[in-house]
Amino acid sequence: MVNQDRRLLLFMPTKSSFTRSLFLVLAFCLSGVMPAMAESRASYEAALDHLESIQVAKPQQARAEIERLLALKSELSNEQLSRLLISQSIVHLLDGKFQLALDNLQHAERLTVSNSRLTSNYLYQATTYLSLGDYESALDIIAKNLSRIEQLDELDIKISSYLRLTNLYASLEAYSEMTHYAQLVWQLSKDTDPLNHCYASLFLAVAEFKQAKYMQAEKLFQITQDFCAANNIPLVVAMSNKGKAETHLKRGNYSEALSLLLEAQAGYETFAFQMELNSVTALLAETYYHLQQPAQAKLAANAIMALPEAPINIENKVIASKVLAYLAHAEGNYQQAYDSLALHQALAKTLLDETKAKAQAYHMAKFENGEMTRQVRMLEQDRELYSARQELKALEDSRNSMILLVTLGGMVLVSIFGITTLVQKQRYKKLAQFDPLTGAYNRGIGQELAENIYVKTVAYHKPFSVIILDLDNFKLINDSYGHHAGDWSLKQVAKVVRKCISGQDMLVRMGGEEFAIFLPNRDSEAAQQIAELCREGIAAIEGKYNNYTFDITASFGVTSNLADDLSLDPITHRADLAMYRAKKAGRNTVVFQLDNSGETLPNAYQSKFALG
Ligand code: GH3
Ligand code: MG
Ligand code: MG
Repeated sequence: MVNQDRRLLLFMPTKSSFTRSLFLVLAFCLSGVMPAMAESRASYEAALDHLESIQVAKPQQARAEIERLLALKSELSNEQLSRLLISQSIVHLLDGKFQLALDNLQHAERLTVSNSRLTSNYLYQATTYLSLGDYESALDIIAKNLSRIEQLDELDIKISSYLRLTNLYASLEAYSEMTHYAQLVWQLSKDTDPLNHCYASLFLAVAEFKQAKYMQAEKLFQITQDFCAANNIPLVVAMSNKGKAETHLKRGNYSEALSLLLEAQAGYETFAFQMELNSVTALLAETYYHLQQPAQAKLAANAIMALPEAPINIENKVIASKVLAYLAHAEGNYQQAYDSLALHQALAKTLLDETKAKAQAYHMAKFENGEMTRQVRMLEQDRELYSARQELKALEDSRNSMILLVTLGGMVLVSIFGITTLVQKQRYKKLAQFDPLTGAYNRGIGQELAENIYVKTVAYHKPFSVIILDLDNFKLINDSYGHHAGDWSLKQVAKVVRKCISGQDMLVRMGGEEFAIFLPNRDSEAAQQIAELCREGIAAIEGKYNNYTFDITASFGVTSNLADDLSLDPITHRADLAMYRAKKAGRNTVVFQLDNSGETLPNAYQSKFALG
């Protein structure tokens, strides 16, 4: 992109409130600074440690300290001055003074030779470019940083870079990439890095929200909130409240939205996080309007319209101007309604132009950043190397023969991904959770492994299919011939199914007499063939136990992944729906289904495939 275009982009209005807040949250956490309670001002080093520990939580105090240290500038070393400038740029970021932040960071970049400081500097610069709407420069910086960190051997730096990529794609509204990188961070940070795990989880929720998958988004916001609260990350707890509120607002549940927004507001107030507070106020205006509390709605909307004409306020003003138009209309004040509506449309058009600019920058970047793609791929290889190393370590650490069995069981993908999630010893027991009766994976570990394989499979644009099978009238077998006959049947069924599938496929006991078969790299036709093979195999079992003879059959639901299936959850739900249809069609049948049509599932047929 030529320079002129670049400059044009610089003046583009910035991103939606959510992703913009995420930039800032990330900016806080990615500094890589450990607070080192240095109350004594014995040395500048200690003073800088202290400054970095308070710069987010106590911005006012930090400002004063920055002023004090800037006055002593000539006494600082280059590295110290670089740190100070980075701290100051964070304050600028918080204030929405992005150009000042950028100038500071570029100055700081020239003063440092420290690898980790350089990395955090680049990440802040990318943040700033994103906030300025200069997507192409953000991509350039990320590419530059990736090529540097390729040579470093620090997982932390890699995680933070993936996180930044997540952020970048979020700002470009490229949600499948966003989800992809968020899942990588989520995976890599699991058990070892709660802070980044918390952010990744939030990103996954936001991605669902942005794609209008409100139920799923709400669930993920809740998971995020629980996790981040347990790990004492209150800012993300507030953001999750706002996220949940927005899912309710979109679905017309206004009173739920109101109480969540008020909770979010209280949370943000403790941080004096003005940008997010403004965003909550705009949403409150909309919510009060719908709850028919016009006075409150007007108060909130007017507060937003009184904010300066800055790009950062556009999205909030789009909401507020619309609320004011509706309120004026309801009051019979038609001229004012018209004026507000005209303003609303002008603001909304600016946002739309921004989206177009993003799409353009995105395509351009895709074209120009082939190099970056290559480096990202190398990072992914690194990640596998890391996982493999962890796997070895896990083997050394543990004498648990079950783990040995699983790891050497030939499921290379499963072990690579499985072990990554199992680096901590207390989780070893979970791995051993095979169902003792059938030898299938238990639901918990089974779905965790399957989810990992799913991420990997779709990353390589390969198909993924799921079969749900449920034994027919199984209660009758139990009731007529006893529980042991039932157990015996379950064992035979698992045996038959294992014969129909191969090493890469996974058999999971989802509960009772229901099983799932996860089929990576298999398209719908292959999956249907396997299901049919299993169906015939099960029907051919000679039901003989304690001199009783009986028939065993099962109903099968089969489906494959669609482009917008970001996790296994919707796919398994579809397979459930198909299985239920097979039951209704008379049992002992295979039904294939590629959409979500059909009745709601009765409880008895829900496999409750929860994330988490
Ligand atoms: P449908 O064809 O509609 O699926 O009917 P069903 O009888 O198979 O389904 P229902 O859900 O009514 O009954 C399932 C039965 O499976 C009830 C439960 O006692 C039995 N079951 C669940 N787990 C086990 C187990 O581990 N061993 C035995 N023997 N029975 C089990
Ligand atoms: Mg059944
Ligand atoms: Mg059942």
